[in-house]
Amino acid sequence: MRAQQFVVIGLGRFGASLALTLMELGYEVLGIDHIEERVEEMSDLLTHAVMADATDESVMRSLGIRNFDCGIVAIGDNMERSILAAILLKELGVKQVVAKAISILHGRALERLDVDRVIFPERDMGIRVAHQLVTPNLLDYIELSKDYRIVELTVPACMDGKSLAQINTRARYGCSIIALKRGEGREEGVIVAPTAHDYLYEGDIMVVIGTNESINRFEQEAI
Ligand code: ADP
Repeated sequence: MRAQQFVVIGLGRFGASLALTLMELGYEVLGIDHIEERVEEMSDLLTHAVMADATDESVMRSLGIRNFDCGIVAIGDNMERSILAAILLKELGVKQVVAKAISILHGRALERLDVDRVIFPERDMGIRVAHQLVTPNLLDYIELSKDYRIVELTVPACMDGKSLAQINTRARYGCSIIALKRGEGREEGVIVAPTAHDYLYEGDIMVVIGTNESINRFEQEAI
């Protein structure tokens, strides 16, 4: 079952942004921080915001933390407190525990505690921005495995009005266009599994799947 109720521990930049997005998506969010101003700032924006020390077991028990489906430890200023908060969430029986790591070593410690998902926001965003800087048309990408990825690219002017048959990515580069999203003002919206007879227009978004090598060649030679 998907998580419905989230507890976010640490309402710094990362925790606050995550909590607000979950609210926008329609979920219930309890935000916890031990700094009063952080809690006040968020109190009208979250389902509940509580000032508490997330490493205090009795306080966490009294907040009914064990009833939450997912807990996110977003403490980025103190490794020890992050680890203690993660242990508590696990021990209290929160079904899924996610924790933000400040360093590789911190990440390894969290993994050893059986935290379900360890995230490295600064490292991952650094990688993402580097990819986007060297490929200006790149909007987003997903790594499927070590060798394969899916990328979202903006259709450049040089491809405007060409059909997929003319671009022929599969034969030329070994990657496939699996979806098209039309640019502003065009009616078709999203075309899933486009055929050779679908056309590309500047500003459309194409979703491409392939090996890293094939996509690199496509980006460098065709775009
Ligand atoms: P970011 O880098 O995302 O801005 P910060 O490290 O600045 O993150 O923020 C972490 C937040 O976690 C701070 O608001 C801090 O008060 C809070 N925090 C740290 N330790 C605890 C704790 N034991 N209990 C509750 N909140 C905590």
